[in-house]
Amino acid sequence: MEANSCNVPVTVGFRVPARVSRETKPEGSVVNVAGVETGGAGVVIIAGPCAVESKEQLFDTARSVKKEGARILRGGAFKPRSSPYSFQGLGEEGLILLSSIRAETGLPIVTEVMDPRQVDLVGEYADMLQIGSRNMQNYPLLKEVGMCRKPILLKRGMMATIEEFLLAAEYILNQGNEQVILCERGIRTFETSTRNTLDLSAVPMLKRLTHLPVIVDPSHGTGIRWMVPAMAKAAVAAGADGLIMEVHYRPDEAICDGYQSLDLDLFAGLMTDLKRIALAVDRKIL
Ligand code: PEP
Ligand code: MN
Repeated sequence: MEANSCNVPVTVGFRVPARVSRETKPEGSVVNVAGVETGGAGVVIIAGPCAVESKEQLFDTARSVKKEGARILRGGAFKPRSSPYSFQGLGEEGLILLSSIRAETGLPIVTEVMDPRQVDLVGEYADMLQIGSRNMQNYPLLKEVGMCRKPILLKRGMMATIEEFLLAAEYILNQGNEQVILCERGIRTFETSTRNTLDLSAVPMLKRLTHLPVIVDPSHGTGIRWMVPAMAKAAVAAGADGLIMEVHYRPDEAICDGYQSLDLDLFAGLMTDLKRIALAVDRKIL
């Protein structure tokens, strides 16, 4: 079997785009999100609600996930909802809440940007910009975030191949922004018992093909609260550089994605287990 210098079998069937290729940077990239490094020895835990709903909801959740060891806070202010009649997020008000809880807790924040016209606005508040699954192939948006100076969390399109995922990342790097973290968040398959099929085989594959850090979202990847801990642990065992998980102080009252959000006790218990899994694969939870 023919192999390139990184011993990547040519049988993947496509050429890895140049800028994201592991060949360009065999040692791997470390992405620094306001002082929190993803892609090094540590495994980074990102946690928080799907959407910013209110001050109380965000602040109570954020304080708890910080206490249990989360290093970055997530929370959507602009939400990509399947139905135009569903809650669309608090918008800038949500961004303001995120920056005030950052000031209190010191946790950097990641939040989604959906529109090229809002990249500047979201970039003023966020420490990392999230490109959601539905926008992975929104090329004008990829180019726009490629021109900003904030790290980008690029989620895999729900119908995207690994090749398409890497090409989407290449769009961002091509514009000069090399601070990109890839996120496997589940893909659509014929399976209906879970919201998505979490493709954990993407983790070792991506780690081999690209130098970019790779994290996993077991919340959207399964869509089921009780499955999240098992898949979170499996992701760390598979070599993920981090996890992004939905946590809510009252998941049953959540406006968005409550059925897949961990409550605070489940999150605390999972953090304990993750430390042991990380040690078993010579990593540590950052
Ligand atoms: C989210 O993180 O809340 C989200 C909408 O994720 P995805 O784009 O993966 O569906
Ligand atoms: Mn969500």
